[in-house]
Amino acid sequence: MESSVLTDYAIKYVVHILDNSAIPYCLVGESVLELYGLQRKLGIFTGFAIPTKWMEHARYALQQAGHFSCRGPCDARTGYKPTFKEDVPPIAPAWHFHMPPPPLAGGEHGSCGPSTFLWGYVVNFYNHSDALWFFPEPPRGDPTTAPRPPLGDNVPPEGLGVLSDYYMLSDDLRLSPHRRHAPERHPIKISTPHRYLETIICQMCVHRQKREVGLAETCAAIFHRLTLPRRLNPQLQVVLRERELSEPFRGFVENHFKDPEDPTKSDSGWEERVLTFLYTKPEIHMLLS
Ligand SMILES: [Zn+2]
Repeated sequence: MESSVLTDYAIKYVVHILDNSAIPYCLVGESVLELYGLQRKLGIFTGFAIPTKWMEHARYALQQAGHFSCRGPCDARTGYKPTFKEDVPPIAPAWHFHMPPPPLAGGEHGSCGPSTFLWGYVVNFYNHSDALWFFPEPPRGDPTTAPRPPLGDNVPPEGLGVLSDYYMLSDDLRLSPHRRHAPERHPIKISTPHRYLETIICQMCVHRQKREVGLAETCAAIFHRLTLPRRLNPQLQVVLRERELSEPFRGFVENHFKDPEDPTKSDSGWEERVLTFLYTKPEIHMLLS
C-alpha cells in the first residue's frame, strides 16, 4: 500500500539525503499545508521542487542511497488525481521513486478494513520552475550546521535577504507554535505562506485564461485551503498575514472575500490585473503562450 502524500518519516528521510548532498530543494504541495497549521485532506500532489540544473544530482544522491527512479509502467508517472475531483488531471512529477514502509513496526500505519498495514510512499520530484514559477533558487545545505541568523516573530531573519521572504524552515517562529517543528528536529525547507499563495494565484489565473479547467481547479483548492483561516475569522492571520502579500495579490484576496452583493467586487477584474502583472515578467511569457 502506498501513499502519495508524504508523512514526517518520509520527508525527513529524503531531506537528510538532499541536505547532506547540498542539493537545493523546497517541499511543495499538500505536505506543506500541515506545517502551515492547515488540515491536509485534498489528496493533491506533494513532493520536492528542485531546480532543473540540480535534478540529476538529486537523482544520483537518491540512487546512491539505493532508491532508483521508477521507469516502469506506473500510475505515479502521470501523477495522482486529486481525491476531491475525479475529472481533474493529475500533476505529473519530473520523476519519482517508490520508498518502502519504515523498517520498524513502530512506523506509520494506515488502516484498511479490519487490518492495519504499513504505508510505503511515492516520492515525487518536480521541476522548481514548474512548481514555484519565479521563486529564486532555494537555499541548500544542512541548515543545522550552516550559519543561521536568529529568528523572531514577524522579523525575517537578517542575512538571508530575499530568500527569507520566499523560504522558511519548519521551525521558523513565524509558523504557529502548534505546528512548527521543535528546534531539535532536522528542519525542512518550505516556502513562506504569503509567497506560496501568490504563486498559486498566478497559476490559477493562467490556467483559467488558458481554459485548463482541471489545473485551475487544483490551484483553486489550494487557494481556498491557504485562505481558510481568513475565511473563518478575518482577524485571525496567524498563518497568512495579508499585509505580507504584494500587489496585485493582496487586492485579489481582498476582492475574493468581498460580499457577492458588493458593487466593487470584480473577480474578472482582479484576474486581469494578475495576468497584466505576469506579462511584465519575461520568464513567464512562455507559460502564458
Ligand atoms: Zn512508479
